[in-house]
Amino acid sequence: AAKKQGKNTYSIFDTVENTLEAQRHKKVADFKLAIEQNQLRLYYQPKIYLRSGCLASVEALIRWQHPEKGLLAPSAFLPHIKDSPLEIALDDWVLKKALEQQAEWQEQGLEIKVSVNISPRYISQQSFVDYLSQLLHSFPNGIARYLEIEIVENHELGDVNAVANIMNQCKSLGVSFSLDDFGTGYASLSHFHSLPLSVLKIDQSFIYNIETNELDKNIVKGAIQLAHAVNMPVVAEGVETVQLGKILKELGCELAQGYGIAKPMPAKELLTWAENFKHDTVWKYL
Ligand code: C2E
Ligand code: MG
Ligand code: MG
Ligand code: MG
Repeated sequence: AAKKQGKNTYSIFDTVENTLEAQRHKKVADFKLAIEQNQLRLYYQPKIYLRSGCLASVEALIRWQHPEKGLLAPSAFLPHIKDSPLEIALDDWVLKKALEQQAEWQEQGLEIKVSVNISPRYISQQSFVDYLSQLLHSFPNGIARYLEIEIVENHELGDVNAVANIMNQCKSLGVSFSLDDFGTGYASLSHFHSLPLSVLKIDQSFIYNIETNELDKNIVKGAIQLAHAVNMPVVAEGVETVQLGKILKELGCELAQGYGIAKPMPAKELLTWAENFKHDTVWKYL
């Protein structure tokens, strides 16, 4: 139809599309450079046990130290690389970097589990399990049990049984899995049912208002009961206040993560943070 309206209409439309495509290409190319030029950083955010107030693990979160724009959060660049091969390249970088960091902490006397956000697309690649097995072998013995993969669902999962099968093979290497952002997007009840998961993470959007909103509180309560029905512990995200921690503890939630405990921080700050947190009394006597 555009063609019939005359040559001009068609070419303007064409130009706009080319421009958008070119912009997208540029963003993808920029991010490729970011990986190559070592501009990516992992920040680490603690998760604690609500019962004891002890540090349980850390989640690795990607940041881009951009030469002009400064430190960028994932929302500033992840959408641009979605569905491109760079999504896989990023997952690969994150996995390796987090393992290196775990090994370094281990050497420094901090024995801590690290979780990474990895797409199902990455673990579904040909011979991923062999690759992971080799990678784990290049690190100190037993590192696998300090690795947790948070399955992030920004795509349709595709063949759930195939993904479950790969996850089971990874589990036999010692790696565990959690379901991230439960209750949102594609992180559905059917995945909860079909995948070999060790932990359920309730999305922060359900947590914020549990103090004042009875419905939200009941939803969180229900999610916790659901997880407990299959002996799965629960992590609450977005725990911004001590009061939220108290309520979650009363609801039987095992673990908490959020600004009220600590913000994501560079690896080198974690040792000091962990040392100081041992003497924290607020979260110990909730
Ligand atoms: P997520 O996996 O659900 O991670 C939690 C996000 O909530 C993080 O945002 C964290 O900084 C933020 N957060 C934690 N506690 C609080 C709180 O108390 N209040 C508020 N308002 N926010 C809190 P971040 O680092 O911006 O990451 C956003 C999302 O980007 C992550 O959500 C995850 O889905 C994705 N992402 C982060 N790192 C990676 C990565 O290495 N690879 C991939 N594929 N995705 C990643
Ligand atoms: Mg996560
Ligand atoms: Mg999450
Ligand atoms: Mg989330």
